Amino acid sequence: LLSTVPALTVEGPFALEAEFQADSDPSKVNLIIGAYRDDRARPWQLRAVVEAKRQLRVESSFHEYLPLQGSREFIGAAKRLIFGDAIVNKISESIASIQTVSGTGANSLIAKFLDKHTRCGSIWLPDPTWVNHKDIWEVNAPRIEMRCYPYYSDSTQAVDFDQMLQTLNDAQQGDAILLHACAHNPTGQDPTEEQWDKIARLCQAKKLFVIFDSAYQGFASGDLDRDAWAVRHFAAFSDLEIAVCQSFSKNLGLYGERVGALHVVMTRSPPTTATHVQNRLVDLHRAFVSMAPLFGCRVANQIFQNQELQDMWQADLTTMSGRISSMRNALYSELLRLRTPGDWAHVKNQVGMFSYTGLSKEEVKVLRTKYHIYMLPSGRASICGLTNTNVKYVAQSIHKVVTE
Ligand code: PMP
Repeated sequence: LLSTVPALTVEGPFALEAEFQADSDPSKVNLIIGAYRDDRARPWQLRAVVEAKRQLRVESSFHEYLPLQGSREFIGAAKRLIFGDAIVNKISESIASIQTVSGTGANSLIAKFLDKHTRCGSIWLPDPTWVNHKDIWEVNAPRIEMRCYPYYSDSTQAVDFDQMLQTLNDAQQGDAILLHACAHNPTGQDPTEEQWDKIARLCQAKKLFVIFDSAYQGFASGDLDRDAWAVRHFAAFSDLEIAVCQSFSKNLGLYGERVGALHVVMTRSPPTTATHVQNRLVDLHRAFVSMAPLFGCRVANQIFQNQELQDMWQADLTTMSGRISSMRNALYSELLRLRTPGDWAHVKNQVGMFSYTGLSKEEVKVLRTKYHIYMLPSGRASICGLTNTNVKYVAQSIHKVVTE
């Protein structure tokens, strides 16, 4: 059986990461993976997480199964974080929620669910988008056609809003559209509030099923509520069906613990019960994951249920988003000082972990082979990999690559 398995060369961020690890050059810089690093380019544990673990006394923790839906406390708190108290108090009964294996698990589950239990015809993905979206939909929803809408204009280095709306005019009733809730990966560009409203009205008019991928709440602005604005705006439409894939990898720094949730908001007009969707999600999840992991959700829960730890978490988010923002400014100022050809304002104006630098595939390759600076071939650089020690070297190398 196994001798007929087709060959596959492993590519993408994790293959590049392995190449970086094998590089022995002392000046190497890692701008690949979307994981927060401190100013010494080291992984950083949030203070709130350290304190939560201390309070949990992990050595005496239990190891039983979670219920199939996940931890009720965790799901309830996760729901409030993304939708806010006002919406949850009003429409809690209309939201089906399940704990998932982080954001990837939530994306996969909604794809499987739409494929198996609905007549969804196409999924519209932004172009560009997170590299894993295409694989997730291909693997989990073979019946649903994958289509793309233009999201970003290389020439204006901004959201290509007109093209986006024009293309989405082709979407049919019962199609699904995927939107990044904030800090769009890889472009770092989000629609304005006015643009979000227009997208919501288009989805309403065309009766599209809206999927928000929320992997960076708290990373765009440093404020959890502000970064949930688009989700809450859409959820206030009583005739829209919405799913939110919620990840706590980045905002709690719990990358390996796989903490996340999937929420599905039913319409209130016409009124629809969430029970069938809830039960189907649990049933489907049971077949391939059973229930989500326990430990990370306990850490998250400890923070969610305790005001002091929540304040600490907010301070941690400010620390992380503040450092990212200061590195954006440092890189921009240095490129400006060097008079590097081009307009680099997007480097400081984009939000979230990444900068979509605008560097070509060829330039990215030269940066890697000649200067040992690693980023994705698309020109996406993780700003978290910049430090006060390496930012000048990175700017100088970009300058040389662009001017050579
Ligand atoms: N969605 C987007 C847009 C992401 O960037 C990521 C992480 N890179 C995820 C989902 C999923 O991450 P995780 O599975 O760790 O929650």
